[in-house]
Amino acid sequence: MSSNVDRETFNQIMVPNYAPQQMIPVKGLGSRVWDQQDNEFIDFAGGIAVNALGHCHPELTAALHQQADQLWHLSNVWTNEPALKLAQALCDKTFAEKVYFANSGAEANEAAFKLARKYAYDNFGAEKHEIISCNNSFHGRTLFTVSVGGQPKYREGFEPVPAGISHVPFNDIAALEQQISDKTCAVVIEPIQGEGGITPATAEYLQAAKSLCSEHNALLIFDEIQTGVGRTGKLYAYQHSQVKPDILTTAKALGGGFPIAAMLSTEKIAKSFNVGSHGSTYGGNPLGCAVALKLLQIVDTPEVLEGVFHKHHLITQQIAQFNQKTELFKDIRGQGLLIGCELSDQYKGKARLFLELAQQTGLMVLVAGLNVIRLTPSLIIPEADIKEGLARFNRTMQLFKQQA
Ligand SMILES: *Cc1c(COP(=O)(O)O)cnc(C)c1O
Repeated sequence: MSSNVDRETFNQIMVPNYAPQQMIPVKGLGSRVWDQQDNEFIDFAGGIAVNALGHCHPELTAALHQQADQLWHLSNVWTNEPALKLAQALCDKTFAEKVYFANSGAEANEAAFKLARKYAYDNFGAEKHEIISCNNSFHGRTLFTVSVGGQPKYREGFEPVPAGISHVPFNDIAALEQQISDKTCAVVIEPIQGEGGITPATAEYLQAAKSLCSEHNALLIFDEIQTGVGRTGKLYAYQHSQVKPDILTTAKALGGGFPIAAMLSTEKIAKSFNVGSHGSTYGGNPLGCAVALKLLQIVDTPEVLEGVFHKHHLITQQIAQFNQKTELFKDIRGQGLLIGCELSDQYKGKARLFLELAQQTGLMVLVAGLNVIRLTPSLIIPEADIKEGLARFNRTMQLFKQQA
């Protein structure tokens, strides 16, 4: 493909808040990607847990084309059929009775935190406004969501930030018990911390959070923006346990690459968002909803969800075997196709180097923080691509060992 833009163009005209890799992908199909020079890559990154069905899945492409010829946008002055059908599907498949649509994860969380505050305000008074979140959690980049997020580096320089938020150590039941009070309106948890390093919440922690919330009339919010839509082998990660949230946020994989997000809740809680109290121009637009509905129909099948379990074992067992010789990683963890490989102490802080070297072998991977290599491939990545990708992963491990 000929082109007159390259990586240098990025430096010239883009706000420097990202540092993208040198190569620029121009085409994707399934779990393969090609760059401007027509080099081919295996995609173990999946657009950061977004491309749940890989690139250009024919049924998603068809759903988008069909809707593109039908109706693009209305605003929420009118509702639309794709939004109503998608909301029905989400309610059928989860605890939810009510759905609010947004366009990104941060917006879904923003809605969730505002709803939690409003619900407490309506039912218990203004005093009950405190939000408890976990250290190292990630909930998005708006000012409210970086404030609730448990990584101070994301709010540094942006203060003053919203008040009434506290942070507790993740998976520490005693700490949560000590922090929660009748002033708490919500406790927010990622069932597996994604950006924080692929760290699962324990079943006991989720259970204890639920009981403590019930005791104090606080809402339990699960941020399933990364873990949702089949990523862990269930449609939503909470469905592995007995613990149902009061509010759940979902984004990333929901549109398979088309920007869409949703906040799910119950009728009783959703009532606090009455007419005019919150909104979004694009939220629930027909294009995104049509794609997401098709994606949900494909993902929420035994074939795809059981495939996720199988692929998890294939990938983690093979990497564990490579690791026996090299001992690059001290832990290989995660659930389904949300996999983290934590570097051994002698390689601390060098995850980014691994990502760069992987590209030299024709493999796209991600990092989660400074020490964890993150893999979030398509949920339907073919076995042949997994095997070839793992061979490249092994080559990357060799290169890394030489250079790190
Ligand atoms: C990605 C992510 C977000 C933010 O989503 P955006 O679409 O980038 O706003 C929030 N929470 C979690 C757990 C995420 O993984």
